[in-house]
Amino acid sequence: MERRNFIALVGTSLVAAPVWSSVYNSKMPAPKAIDSVFPELPYAYNALEPTIDAKTMEIHYSKHHKAYHTNFLAAIKDTPAAELDLKTLFAGISKFPAAVRNNGGGYYNHMLFWENMTPNKTAPSAVLSGLIDKSFGSMDKFKVAFSDAGKKQFGSGWSWLVAGPDGKLFVTGSPNQDNPLMDVMEKRGTPLLCLDVWEHAYYLQYQNRRPEYVDNFWKVVNWDTVNKRYENR
Ligand code: MN
Repeated sequence: MERRNFIALVGTSLVAAPVWSSVYNSKMPAPKAIDSVFPELPYAYNALEPTIDAKTMEIHYSKHHKAYHTNFLAAIKDTPAAELDLKTLFAGISKFPAAVRNNGGGYYNHMLFWENMTPNKTAPSAVLSGLIDKSFGSMDKFKVAFSDAGKKQFGSGWSWLVAGPDGKLFVTGSPNQDNPLMDVMEKRGTPLLCLDVWEHAYYLQYQNRRPEYVDNFWKVVNWDTVNKRYENR
């Protein structure tokens, strides 16, 4: 590789880090949509086995997520959307074409999803646990509500734990690639935890057994990320 190309690559990766960490952090300036660099998966393809197998992770990340990113950049190129940060774009997403909504959501939601899973043992903070108890009655009741939102989502979509503007937590499902930052959602707020229930997320390993995939998800939740998203909401 020529030195010039190497420097250009290094420059790209230096830009990538703050983009990755700031997508969920309202205390940091959000990146302009057009500046976004396709982020690296935060672990190896096989890191979440046996909950999620390596082949599913590889296809999900390198094909599905990559395609959303590519198509999103193509959809906003040379349009006013390219000048907006992602949060501002999502807050007015109803005014943009379906390609921006679907691919922008697909690009962003998967970044959240990868980062809220880990092979490591993590736990909710005392503050978050207390708030979950207050909002849902108990951690178990929260898990049932979140799991049900994923199991009962008809067709493709997501399950979400969200911090509302009033500071209270709630659970919701979303169709397709919509997310709780979008003005098309009935209840909006800051996403803390999400689960992809599109068939591409589980079909290779679980086939039609979506409930089993959803129940196993709790084994790989990255509570450190959820704690941080709540603190930085
Ligand atoms: Mn997906």
